[in-house]
Order: sequence, then structure tokens, then C-alpha cells
Amino acid sequence: MIFATGFVRLVPTIRSTDANLHPRGIDPIQKGWSHALGGFFAFASLWLAGNAMAQQANLPVAVSTRTGSTEPLASPNADPMIALIIDGQNNHGVWPKTTMMIKKYLEDTGRYRVDIARTKYTWQGAEWFEKYPLNDGIAHEALGESKPDPNFHPEFSKYNVVISNLGYGAAPWPEATQKDFEKYVGEGGGFVVLHAADNSFGDWTEFNKMIGLGGWGGRNEKSGPYVYLNQDEKEVRDNSPGNGGSHGAQHEFPIIVRDAEHPITKGLPKMWLHSQDELYDRLRGPAVKMKVLATAYAAQDKGGTGRHEPMIMTIDYGKGRVFHTPMGHGDYSMECVGFITVLLRGTEWAATGAVAHDEIPKDFPTTDKSSKRPF
Ligand SMILES: [Zn+2]
Repeated sequence: MIFATGFVRLVPTIRSTDANLHPRGIDPIQKGWSHALGGFFAFASLWLAGNAMAQQANLPVAVSTRTGSTEPLASPNADPMIALIIDGQNNHGVWPKTTMMIKKYLEDTGRYRVDIARTKYTWQGAEWFEKYPLNDGIAHEALGESKPDPNFHPEFSKYNVVISNLGYGAAPWPEATQKDFEKYVGEGGGFVVLHAADNSFGDWTEFNKMIGLGGWGGRNEKSGPYVYLNQDEKEVRDNSPGNGGSHGAQHEFPIIVRDAEHPITKGLPKMWLHSQDELYDRLRGPAVKMKVLATAYAAQDKGGTGRHEPMIMTIDYGKGRVFHTPMGHGDYSMECVGFITVLLRGTEWAATGAVAHDEIPKDFPTTDKSSKRPF
């Protein structure tokens, strides 16, 4: 997304819904069509079946205080972890849908209860609110630009893991909320950073340490080095001047595992074809205690850097664990079975420090064939 002057080429992309690039290179408001009837009925029938099964078997039913929703837990012996998705302001207008995708992916494992903390003032995405409502009792106001929410202060310490679905342009949090979040992660909390969540809060020093690398939001050589693998597949930390964050045209691209011993990547195929996505490149940041577990090659003929760019990262922040993937631009990107698998593993690792549930789904993508689950 975003300015990235000199690096973004406005090449027509594969899907017609993506052709509507903003003149300045800002991501279009997503109007993906993959939520159409098939996915809806599949979701509805699964939900109904789940409810019926829960009632028949007298299974526990989780009631989320923040969302007000009543949803069956998929496992009767669940001692679920509690995850919090934070959202509300993101230039990727499909965010109200992708939040619900992330929530469902986690809840479908039967191991999580998921709350959502949304800023009172929202930016972008209003066209998705009716289809993907959040009944949290807050009178949200959809604004034409992002605006700080002085009352945004989730009780982070209640959660095993916090997942950011915020994006470029998210307004700064109140200082007390920032400090509380630093304390939460620093004292051992889990944090998951997806795609444009690494665009947020360019001026927040501790946040930048947590995410390791970021893009846009005023990031430049003062933020830290560019980190990538060169042609010899050696990790480079490059302090040359320049803005952080750019990308070429969206396309399908292979993800290559570079550290097969980490719990998040252990046992995964060495390479798989990721579904259409934006391939973030030129990310830069403090990159302290950061491991690059997987990369993707940002091909120059797609408008990329010609470098192997980090796609799965972990960062140790105090006693806390951060899982960061710049994958996940669109709802279609998040339908990738590779993305879903890595999201589940990364979230579990951030929450617990281990990945006990490491099955490889049968529909996992192969080296030359991507694989999606329509939502
Ligand atoms: Zn994007």
C-alpha cells in the first residue's frame, strides 16, 4: 500500500476488484466478492449445526461480553485461550470482514474464545458493517478520517494473545493505553501483527520494537535497517537511507521456509504457493531479537525489490512473544490455507510459546498450486 514513490508500479492486477488503485497508491477499499452466497450458506449451516450440536450435547457455550455474541465452543473439554482482535481504523477497507475471518479461524479450532475491541471512531470499511456486525454496545462513528479514541483501553492482561487488524493511518492510542500494552507484552503477553498492522504507529518507539519491522507511517533510516535476504540467501541489515515499505503488483508468490526448527514453521513444506497478496518489501525497523522464519522473493518484474523479503517473523519483546506476518492484504489473501495455517500456528506460539497443534491440513498449498477456503 501507500506512497512508496519510485517502487510501486500501478500494474493492473489479476482481480477486477483490485484494479481500482488509489491514485497515490493507497489500497483500494476492498469489495471482494468471495463472501457471496456459497460461503455465506456454508458459514450459516456450520454455525447452525454447531449450535444444535452444542445444545444436544450440553456443551459449554461461550458468551463474549464485548461482542455480545453467543457461540458454541467446538470442543467439550475446551479450556479455551482468550484472544483479542483490535481493529477500527485501517486503509484496507475490508477489515470488518477480515476481523471476522480471523475470529472464525481461531474459534473453529475449539481452542479460543475471541473478543474484538474496536475503536469508537472507525475509518474505512463501513460498507461491511451490515454483513459483519459487531454488537459491542459502543456507538461507533464511521468517519472520513481516522481520529483518536480517548476511551480505547482494552484490558489487555485478560488475554493470552492480542491480534492487530489495525492498519495504515490508525490514530494514536492514549498514552495510558500505550503504556499498558507495553507492559502487557513486556511481561509475557502474546502479540500478532498482520499485514498493514505493521504500518500503524510509526512514531511509537516501543511498538516498533515489538513488530521488528514496519512500513510507511513516516518510517525511514531513523527507524532501523532494511532486513532481507540477498541473492546468496544471506540475511542483510541495510542501513541505507530511504523510506520503509513498498510493494509491487499483487500476485501469487511462493513462501520459502528459512528456519524449519521453529515451532511455527516446523514440519511445513519448505515452499508453498501463497494466494494473491501484496508482497511487502523494504520494511525496516529496530529488528532487535527478531528471527526471520520465512521469506518471499519480491520479483522485479512484479515491481518488487529483487530481494527475499521477510514473510514470517518472530520478535522477543521482554518476556513477550510477537508473531508478525506481512501477508494478508485482502480477504482473498486470508483465504489461503497456508496463511490460515501459519496464522493459527503463529497465534498459538505467541499465546503459549509452543505449537502443540501442528497438523498440516490436507488442502495445504503445494509448490506450484495455491489453495484457498472461500469464506
Ligand atoms: Zn495491503
